[in-house]
Amino acid sequence: MTPVIQQNVSLRAFNTLALPSTAEYFCSVSEHSQLLQALELARTSALVVTIIGGGSNIVLAGDIPGLVIQIDLRGVSHRYVTAAGNATGDLANAVDVTFAAGENWHQQVLFCLDQGWYGLENLSLIPGTMGAAPIQNIGAYGVELADRLISLQALDRQSGELVCFDRQSCEFGYRDSLFKHAGYDRYIIVDVTLRLSTKPEPNISYPALSAAVEAFCRREGLTSEAITPRLVSNLVCEIRRQKLPDPALLPNAGSFFKNPLLKQPQLNALLAQFEDMPNYPQPDGGAKIPAAWLIEQCGLKGAERGEVGVHDRQALVLINRGQASGAELLALAGEVRQSVEQRFAISLEIEPRIYGVN
Ligand SMILES: Cc1cc2nc3c(=O)[nH]c(=O)nc-3n(C[C@H](O)[C@H](O)[C@H](O)COP(=O)(O)OP(=O)(O)OC[C@H]3O[C@@H](n4cnc5c(N)ncnc54)[C@H](O)[C@@H]3O)c2cc1C
Repeated sequence: MTPVIQQNVSLRAFNTLALPSTAEYFCSVSEHSQLLQALELARTSALVVTIIGGGSNIVLAGDIPGLVIQIDLRGVSHRYVTAAGNATGDLANAVDVTFAAGENWHQQVLFCLDQGWYGLENLSLIPGTMGAAPIQNIGAYGVELADRLISLQALDRQSGELVCFDRQSCEFGYRDSLFKHAGYDRYIIVDVTLRLSTKPEPNISYPALSAAVEAFCRREGLTSEAITPRLVSNLVCEIRRQKLPDPALLPNAGSFFKNPLLKQPQLNALLAQFEDMPNYPQPDGGAKIPAAWLIEQCGLKGAERGEVGVHDRQALVLINRGQASGAELLALAGEVRQSVEQRFAISLEIEPRIYGVN
């Protein structure tokens, strides 16, 4: 089926910040052939292409020229991984699951739990699509996508070929991957394969999660044997609902800034000045600093600037109070960055990708 291309489409419902923006042309593709046709049409009409998934990690600062393609490819398949050299073909403790890029992340986390496939529970309730998850190597509560990714397939917009990337070639880092650098705007991810475990092995090493699990077990009179992946998923959802505003009620894009990674000399200099600065040591001797703490120290937690604001429970989250424009939101982001820069000499990096800036 040929993709339906519409003209002048409002993108407000296609971004979780609910920012007003109009796509010159828009289509949603649910089949690989539709994606190819949409790209060919853009090529022959000399239209710039913008790819979106669930719109939960983008800032639409203005209207978007050219063709916006929403990836809605669907389908999930799996293959149990047999132990190498196991002549009887007995099932090992793993399953490789391939998700088409348009599948919803959280729904698939729940689907996997239902199947008895474990490893994604700490990443419950992250909005967005499977295909976008590798772009910034999504992570939460001590687990990252990179821990589970085996490979992904992407359409190379330069050659028109499907390319397979293994974990190493994705060049994953903290909220980072090849697709934010050399692969920027070049690859359209069409499916993602994750290796999950058929053996429940809950990872509750992250302090806030282990505290929640302990409190739950104490309250319910349970022992550690009762800690299942399903329980971990439920508790992660509970913590997230307490801490983060629901975009459907208060539009936002989750963490607006990345937690800065400092090298040792800068870290030591800052710790000499700000003894209570929280810091999480990194292998290179430096540390990750919670951006939320830096913003709070600048007195900006809960700050309101007309239709935009810094959330009053989570300073990392910028919110649209209803009728904000992308320009207003970026002005607030600029104020936050400038305050943190002045006080700590740290340059905060914006996490979502910004579109529509002239
Ligand atoms: C309330 C809230 C909480 C969040 N919590 C977390 C969290 O805990 N951890 C975390 O890591 N993130 C978090 N996020 C950010 C966001 O959910 C993730 O980055 C998610 O992976 C974005 O998916 P998406 O489909 O919405 O991508 P979009 O916002 O649509 O796109 C993001 C970027 O990916 C590109 N892209 C999308 N799909 C494809 C594709 N198929 N191929 C190539 N490029 C593509 C787009 O071009 C764009 O540059 C949160 C966001 C919100 C709103």
